[in-house]
Amino acid sequence: MSESRPRILAIDDTPANLLTLGAALSEHYDLQTAISGEMGIALAMETPPDLILLDVMMPRIDGFETCRRLKAEPRLKDVPVIFITAASELESELEGLTLGGADYLIKPINVDIARRRINNLLERETLHRKVQVQRDELEALLAERLQAESELRIAAVAFDSQNGMVITDPSGVILKVNAAFTRLTGYSAAEALGRTPALLKSGRHDELFYQRMWSALKEKGWWQGEVWNKRKNGQIYAELLTITAIMTAEGVTSNYVASFSDITEDKRAEAEIHRLAYYDALTHLPNRRLLQDRLAQALAGAARSGRYGAIFFIDLDNFKALNDTRGHEVGDLLLSEVAQRLRACVREGDTIARLGGDEFVLLLEGLAAEANEGAALAKKMGKKLFEIIAPSFTLDGLPYQCKLSMGVCLFAHEDSVEDLFKRADLALYQAKSAGRNSLRFFDPAMQAAMELRSALEIDLADALDLDQLRVYYQPQYDTARRAVGVEALLRWQHPQRGMIAPSDFIPLAEDTGLILPIGRWVMESACALIGQWAGDLQAQWLEIAVNVSARQFRRADFVAEVRGVLERSGANPQRLKLELTESLVLENVEDTIAKMRAIKALGVRLSMDDFGTGYSSLSYLAQLPLDQLKIDQSFVRNLPGANKDETIARTIITLGRELEMNVIAEGVETEAQLEFLEAHGCHAYQGYLFSRPLPLADLVLFPAQTKMDSAPASPAAAQDFLGPEQRDSGLAVGDLARAHGEQGVVEVQGQQVEELAVVELLR
Ligand code: C2E
Ligand code: CA
Ligand code: CA
Repeated sequence: MSESRPRILAIDDTPANLLTLGAALSEHYDLQTAISGEMGIALAMETPPDLILLDVMMPRIDGFETCRRLKAEPRLKDVPVIFITAASELESELEGLTLGGADYLIKPINVDIARRRINNLLERETLHRKVQVQRDELEALLAERLQAESELRIAAVAFDSQNGMVITDPSGVILKVNAAFTRLTGYSAAEALGRTPALLKSGRHDELFYQRMWSALKEKGWWQGEVWNKRKNGQIYAELLTITAIMTAEGVTSNYVASFSDITEDKRAEAEIHRLAYYDALTHLPNRRLLQDRLAQALAGAARSGRYGAIFFIDLDNFKALNDTRGHEVGDLLLSEVAQRLRACVREGDTIARLGGDEFVLLLEGLAAEANEGAALAKKMGKKLFEIIAPSFTLDGLPYQCKLSMGVCLFAHEDSVEDLFKRADLALYQAKSAGRNSLRFFDPAMQAAMELRSALEIDLADALDLDQLRVYYQPQYDTARRAVGVEALLRWQHPQRGMIAPSDFIPLAEDTGLILPIGRWVMESACALIGQWAGDLQAQWLEIAVNVSARQFRRADFVAEVRGVLERSGANPQRLKLELTESLVLENVEDTIAKMRAIKALGVRLSMDDFGTGYSSLSYLAQLPLDQLKIDQSFVRNLPGANKDETIARTIITLGRELEMNVIAEGVETEAQLEFLEAHGCHAYQGYLFSRPLPLADLVLFPAQTKMDSAPASPAAAQDFLGPEQRDSGLAVGDLARAHGEQGVVEVQGQQVEELAVVELLR
């Protein structure tokens, strides 16, 4: 209702009535008049009045119809209507009131009554409106209240969720915590209120971590991250924490709300997955993958610092044997214990990893700025590793001595992970071949040797077919300086590399299996020569010794092969001698003895090569059907004078006598050696003192008496292989051969007799 005077609209088609009303009401009300229903409605629509006086009897649309239309307008429906009616029309009063009229006035209008009724009605209306407004206000308030209540309920439920919740004031002092907070941290609300979240600090994060968190909160209004915290009972746990700043309308932080969940289990699972992917299950050491990562990092580090690092490939010697004899569990036990010892002796920043099997790798970083110094430090570390592994292990109650082989490679910037692995592996291979329990550094010469080896391996496959192999022969003499035989020694005439010594390609041939066709070819060549010599008066007595490698001898058909070669060549088996090495014999004594017997049955003789270098026990040496022991050249080299070697040589000679075996010394280079051996009763000799191994065409075994002062048959050819001293001793060969030649041809069987004859002759 307007503040000013109430507005009244009077609708009546009789102007006299309107004038009367105007005179009566205009003093207290703003009176508007309309002379038809339509006009009244239009005016009311323009500005709704506070009350309408409505004449019932009007042309076209009467008061009732007008009232109906007014009530149909939403903005007018609450405007009270007073009907004006003649006494004669009173019966219509009822209709008017049901239509929404609030009251009625009877014509002619009594001004006092009209004013009173209008006032009453307006007052009632005012009251009604006030109540209406209050009710609306109340309803709105109630609705608001209900809304707030439900929000609170939601907030309360949310606050009491499974997540720990903390509300702090802007300075971080805890105002409120929920039940989950207590459950997760162990602190009750009473214990937490008034403190700050620092209460939960685990000490696992540095100051910087918290600084970053606070600056994110200030800048963005929230922070999320993983935090290690500590429970009241001291246990450390991981939580995923979200902190949100609550701002006032003015943009000032009023509170912080922190919500967190315990992710310790997730972390553990994550750590476990990481462990499985990067660590070895048995020893818990980093695995190959992690090692490769670390090595890549180490290389980057070396590039930055310019310092050398080192990588050790470490391999347990004879681990396979332990595994085979005592089972995998014991093998695993050793691996874990070795891992423990290795780990114990490296620094914090170094990596000790397991590649698999019995292979471990040690990675040392930032050793030194100089390669030499780095190598020295690596060597020292290697020594430490040997020492730490040396004390015996106790495996399943039994002591076990473990030995290591190590290949070491220094690294600097420009190396790659793959290259380093290859080099360290190569160095390890060298350490192993050097007799185990040793350490080898990789060096470029080693690499070159390795590359040469692979190149040779390829060429060797065709060497036989391309007719590049040669057999040289080195004469053997008895005490009467008479040639009694020759040893067949292999050479490889390589088209680019020249003459290659057997020590450079026999191991290769053994590894690749090529030794089988090659060895057979040597035997065939020897047998062919036996056949060739059979018709020669002097040479028919000569024996040809052929070296047999373990790989050949181990073949089930080896004996058959020897028989086959003999048969095909028609050579006299008595003239063939096979040289077996001590290690070959030791490998499998029973099989060896059986094969040796079978070979002896063919009429072929057997010699034990390199004797003294192995560890044959006397007890079964006696069981071996040997014809000859060959004193290894390493014992001959330092004769006479070297006490130990003298003893060994003497012992072998005595042994041979006792076992009724012939004894030959190889590598005889000096008269002094010959004298010593002769003095102790050695039967035969072979060595540079007499002749180098030579091609058949250059061999001078029996110089013709007429030519006895001349040089060897083909001196030019011989000189290709002889050094200056050798040419001197080549003359010695001539002299000795001359002595032999003067002897003439004697029955070889009667050796003793001949020796005496020679001794006499030499006197
Ligand atoms: P081995 O059987 O011990 O042969 C003796 C080696 O000593 C030969 O080396 C020979 O040339 C050398 N030698 C002979 N007299 C002297 C001397 O006075 N002083 C020195 N310092 N050395 C002397 P070579 O010919 O280089 O053969 C090396 C090894 O290769 C042989 O050692 C043998 O184990 C192996 N080998 C040679 N030919 C064959 C073969 O046809 N088959 C097999 N399986 N191995 C062979
Ligand atoms: Ca030999
Ligand atoms: Ca030998």
